[in-house]
Order: sequence, then structure tokens, then C-alpha cells
Amino acid sequence: MIDIKPENTPEGVEGTGYFATSLDKAVGLARANSLWPLPFATSCCGIEFMATMASHYDLGRFGSERLSFSPRQADLLMVMGTISKKMGVILRQVYEQMAEPKWVLSMGACASSGGIFDSYSVLQGIDRIMPVDVYVPGCPPRPEQVLDGILQIQELAKNETRRRRDSPEYTTMLEQYGIK
Ligand code: SF4
Repeated sequence: MIDIKPENTPEGVEGTGYFATSLDKAVGLARANSLWPLPFATSCCGIEFMATMASHYDLGRFGSERLSFSPRQADLLMVMGTISKKMGVILRQVYEQMAEPKWVLSMGACASSGGIFDSYSVLQGIDRIMPVDVYVPGCPPRPEQVLDGILQIQELAKNETRRRRDSPEYTTMLEQYGIK
């Protein structure tokens, strides 16, 4: 009999022919390793993201090669580039159309804080209109940093309980953004 040991399994009880764990951990592992990003790229950070997707860095190694341009079939919103206040309305609509559970990664100085564009027309950080899970600093961030950001999102997805999205704290946080 071949004794096959699974790699990167969630914490559990192992024995020959069986593996016991909690449903939360199994679901977390599946979610973390099959994130479907929606790239919302408006300017130069988007080019850096293209490099992250290409063969040298290959985001597909982390289970995220399937980009989605439909909010209903994505669970990771990646915002990259300068977001004008007019564009913020569209971005917010995209966020609201995504089903739970969903995560948001803000890539680069512009998306995170407006960057060098401290002007009347530019949103000074997307966290003014939606909750952000991970910020990737830089102008632009290197692909390695983007990969690190994705790994951090994976950690969040892996360790999030299935009940979190139904909790009063989560509802209150969304209400602060006017999201019902
Ligand atoms: S952070 Fe820098 S590289 Fe990224 S969109 Fe802004 S100006 Fe461009």
C-alpha cells in the first residue's frame, strides 16, 4: 500500500487512509488557493500587474490565474492606479456587485492614498468608499510586492471563519460605508 502524505493540509488529525479537520479550515484552504481576482486597473500600476501575471512571476502558481472581468465571478478586487472621484462611483458599484466573501487589495500609492495627485478630482484613497484588506505600497510596487500582497490575502482567506461575514461587527463596518 502506498502511503501518500498530502502537502499543505490544514491542521487536523492524520492517519493512514484518513484525515480529519474542521469544515472552516478545509473551506479556508480551498478559498485561499483559488482566488479569482478582478483587476481594476486605471493607470501605470496596471502595467506592473501585467508583469505579475506574465511567465516570469506567474500569479497562476498561487491559484489566481483566472482573472475575472465580471464582478459576480470574482472574489478579490485588485485596485491599481489613480482613482478619480467620478471613477470611484463605478468602483464602488463593482465592489457592491461582488458576492461575499470578497477581499480588496489596494495596489500602489495612488489607489491607497491618491499618491502624488493631491487634487480636487482624485480620490485620496479607496478606503474612503470601501473597506480594504491589504495595502501594497510603492509607486509602482514591484511584482514581488504584489505577490506578497496576494499571499497576505490568502492568509486572511485561510483563517477567516465562515461566520465572520454574518457577524454584527462586519455588518456595522459595512454600514459605516453606507453599504447594506
Ligand atoms: S502609484 Fe505610481 S505607478 Fe501606480 S498608478 Fe500611481 S503614479 Fe502610477
